[in-house]
Amino acid sequence: MKIEELRIIFEEIGGKKRFDEPMRNYTSFRIGGTADLLIFPENAEDLKKILYLCRRGGIPVFILGFGTNLLVRDGGIRGVVINLNKGFRDMRLDEKIHQTPNSKRRTVIAGGGAGLQKLVGFALKNKLSGMEFAAGIPGSVGGALIMNAGTKDGEIKDVVQGVKIITADGETKTIQKKDIGFSYRHSEFPANSIILETSILLKNGKGKDIKKKMELLVKNRKLKQPLSSYSAGSVFKNPSGDFAARLIESAGLKGFGVGDAIVSHKHANFIVNRDMATAGDVLKLIEIVKEKVFVRTGVLLEEEIRIVGED
Ligand SMILES: Cc1cc2nc3c(=O)[nH]c(=O)nc-3n(C[C@H](O)[C@H](O)[C@H](O)COP(=O)(O)OP(=O)(O)OC[C@H]3O[C@@H](n4cnc5c(N)ncnc54)[C@H](O)[C@@H]3O)c2cc1C
Repeated sequence: MKIEELRIIFEEIGGKKRFDEPMRNYTSFRIGGTADLLIFPENAEDLKKILYLCRRGGIPVFILGFGTNLLVRDGGIRGVVINLNKGFRDMRLDEKIHQTPNSKRRTVIAGGGAGLQKLVGFALKNKLSGMEFAAGIPGSVGGALIMNAGTKDGEIKDVVQGVKIITADGETKTIQKKDIGFSYRHSEFPANSIILETSILLKNGKGKDIKKKMELLVKNRKLKQPLSSYSAGSVFKNPSGDFAARLIESAGLKGFGVGDAIVSHKHANFIVNRDMATAGDVLKLIEIVKEKVFVRTGVLLEEEIRIVGED
């Protein structure tokens, strides 16, 4: 569909709209071709209208979080990219206190478009324990749920109770944790659904202990990860019982590159964009890494990052 046609179809929708917008400006890799239309709904009504117009016009939809786990191909994304704006970033504490014999628990309601670090800070401010594992993980709450973001210290699935979504058909519903099919960096939400809000159950704790744990995790991250470079975090999932970074390093690939896409010297499971890397460079490098690691160890690495868009 031509950009001019999209302009007419979405004329009625208020708020921020960007046509032919470079996705590199919205990804932590700083890579990616243009999206036909990037749209920022501010509330559920806007979102429902957008989804309706997309359904009606057979226009493909992609949901963008903070773009920290994404590689957008150089040809960009056809159709509409939705980024949840203001109305989806609220955070509040539920009044109810869940008393168990050993602890008190509270529920935090967090918008799907809110930053995961905002949720981490909110938990700390309210002296609630359970979000410490996420200290330093970039991205949005919605992205964290889709990816079941986490570390060896915990995953978002450990604290989620329920998730409010809007399906591609425009239906709003709440799904309970047991029905989401969470596993390692994986979730099973209904296809193309959008995460609007989630409820997170946390335990009352000591502010001092929570802060200490969070600070330690952030400090370790700074030591181990190339945080000042453009990247999308770990490129590959850890194979069962091993670490992708160890396998890549043992294949002698630290510092190896294609164009400006380089296997990080600091953390071998990170590919960094030194300056002008294209998605094509990153994809070539991914294939080389997979081949070399497989030939050397028999392990076929699987991508953790989401690769979207056209070549
Ligand atoms: C330096 C660095 C360190 C990282 N460390 C970690 C780590 O320790 N652990 C870890 O798990 N990850 C890590 N990551 C990866 C990334 O931060 C997480 O996967 C994060 O949860 C992605 O969130 P996002 O909002 O950026 O999602 P995006 O990258 O924007 O999108 C990821 C996927 O989620 C979907 N999505 C996003 N929002 C919504 C929504 N509201 N509704 C429906 N679908 C949605 C997108 O369509 C896409 O499929 C790291 C990344 C970087 C750059």
